Amino acid sequence: MDRKSFIKKAALGATASAITLTGCKEVISNPGASSKETDYSKKYKWNMVTTWPPNFPILGEGCNKFAEWVDQMSGGRLKIRVYGGGELIPALEAFDAVSSGTAQIGHGSAYYWAGKIPAAQFFASVPFGMNAQQVNAWIQSGGGMELWRELYAPFNLIPFLAGNTNAQMGGWFNKEINSLDDIKGLKMRIPGLGGRVIERAGGSAILSAGGEIYTNLERGVIDATEWIGPFHDYKMGFHEIAKYYYSPGWHEAGTALEVFINSGIYQSLPYDLQAILEAACARLNLYMMTELEVKNAEYLAIMREEGVDIRTFPTEVLDALKALTAEVIQEMTDKDPKSAKVYASFKAFKAMDKDWSNLTERVFYNAIS
Ligand code: CA
Repeated sequence: MDRKSFIKKAALGATASAITLTGCKEVISNPGASSKETDYSKKYKWNMVTTWPPNFPILGEGCNKFAEWVDQMSGGRLKIRVYGGGELIPALEAFDAVSSGTAQIGHGSAYYWAGKIPAAQFFASVPFGMNAQQVNAWIQSGGGMELWRELYAPFNLIPFLAGNTNAQMGGWFNKEINSLDDIKGLKMRIPGLGGRVIERAGGSAILSAGGEIYTNLERGVIDATEWIGPFHDYKMGFHEIAKYYYSPGWHEAGTALEVFINSGIYQSLPYDLQAILEAACARLNLYMMTELEVKNAEYLAIMREEGVDIRTFPTEVLDALKALTAEVIQEMTDKDPKSAKVYASFKAFKAMDKDWSNLTERVFYNAIS
């Protein structure tokens, strides 16, 4: 749009513009949907399988709220029953269950499916990647969503952005991390690409479900662990058994969470229920980000009061991990064309946003700190 028509359009008023934008969005997010008569008497009962322990604070609870919102917005026409990991199926089988239509809808994070779709990891977290605001911008408005939907399409799934952990912490250690040498031989519980980076640094990355981490750390099965942030980590009690709590979560600076819906089932829904699901995903995304921001700040203060030894990784350690990350991603994109395609978009967006965020966010953060 040139400047003249932009001004003309702006003069029509904000309301008119908003309607136009919403209209466009709907066409994009409902590909293939045709006009159909809405049967308002038809009721739907869905099962939502999640990767979180049942009623897990904020993440699992958020899914429960999602079901309530959909129920309210649909006037009770779409009822969703939420299952924690292990209740209906094991947590990490959620993707397959929704893909096959055994369950209609799921909630998790895309890096759990790295074994099937390596490129999915770009839609969860990339070490030294982007923060929550940037990840949201890239996926929702910067071209990421189209690539994500393309990636899930062969599995009969439609992904939606539906949560973000915001910045995470770097994890719990029983020794100081002063150089990359301190990571050599370290057995750390850390998922995703971050784990590959730790391995490249000479450590070993161990994956264990949430419920096992405390015992493993206490018994020395692992030497270190990352989890989420002060709120969830405090609830897990890691401060009782580990000496140091390191920042930042270089591997998860804004991990995106997802809702995935079986595409055939979604497309068979009346239009309004499709729109309600999309709106509920957007609300869930915001709910998780705001809840985590508040709770993490609150629990960081509690940890400080209780004298938890909170450190930041030395710059040289972060620089070294960043260089290893580049190697890990290079190897991945060399091997897998889909990863190469998605990473090209991720990287281009990040590069474009750098000047803008440095000029504004970075200067502002420094000014207020
Ligand atoms: Ca984590």
